[in-house]
Amino acid sequence: MLRHFFGFRLRSVLAATALLSCGSLASAFFAREWKSGILWPEPPIVNPGPAGGAPADAIVLFDGKDLSQWNGGDQWLIEDGIATAHKTGLTSKQSFGDCQIHLEFASPAEVKGSSQGRGNSGVYIMGRYELQILDSYNNLTYFDGQCGAIYKQRPPMVNVCRGPGEWQTYDILFTAPRFNSDGSLKSPAYITALQNGVVIHNHLEILGTTAYTEPPRYSKHSEKEPLSIQFHGNPVRFRNIWIRENVHEVSGEQLGGSAVPPPVAETR
Ligand code: MG
Repeated sequence: MLRHFFGFRLRSVLAATALLSCGSLASAFFAREWKSGILWPEPPIVNPGPAGGAPADAIVLFDGKDLSQWNGGDQWLIEDGIATAHKTGLTSKQSFGDCQIHLEFASPAEVKGSSQGRGNSGVYIMGRYELQILDSYNNLTYFDGQCGAIYKQRPPMVNVCRGPGEWQTYDILFTAPRFNSDGSLKSPAYITALQNGVVIHNHLEILGTTAYTEPPRYSKHSEKEPLSIQFHGNPVRFRNIWIRENVHEVSGEQLGGSAVPPPVAETR
């Protein structure tokens, strides 16, 4: 009895599966393609460059030769394609708004100091919003001040630091804040950041400036501002710094009709 019951159930399941398969095939055969009706421009072709190099449309801010793109660059030490922080910070001669930033950094191989005094530097986007650089490998400090933090606002999602002296990468997507004509904030800045290929911020709203002495705040500034790299007394090394400005979604033209999907074709 039991055997008969299960045999019947098995045959029923097989039959239903066969019918469903036929239905799927029929749907695929008779289905009409949905089209958005939007005329998209062809995305521009960008040569991504060699592995570890800058894409063709990037503005190269340091390729190992000199720091002529930066104010303060004449104070830093350059040797074997590597720039070492020295005496003063760097401020780019060119200004940037929404952008993608890539840079590589290494804290000193010889460990000196602790907490904020060890391998401290920072990427000051628009000269105001710091993504912290610090040797946070076995080096505790306040969490919203460790490597990868938006300084005094948000710790990184994870501590993905390599050890002292090892090369690390930052890849940053930044949306600049917008201001109204009366100086009030129209929309805040946002940052997405990866350290060593691992996400540490995902479209994080930046609350304002990242000062040591005061809470975050916004005050109106230009649509584009220089990028800065902090000198905090430690000989942090840098290489391969580039930035891209073409970071906006492509837009298309809606041509007639509507983007509402047509009814699904009858298949039975
Ligand atoms: Mg710093």
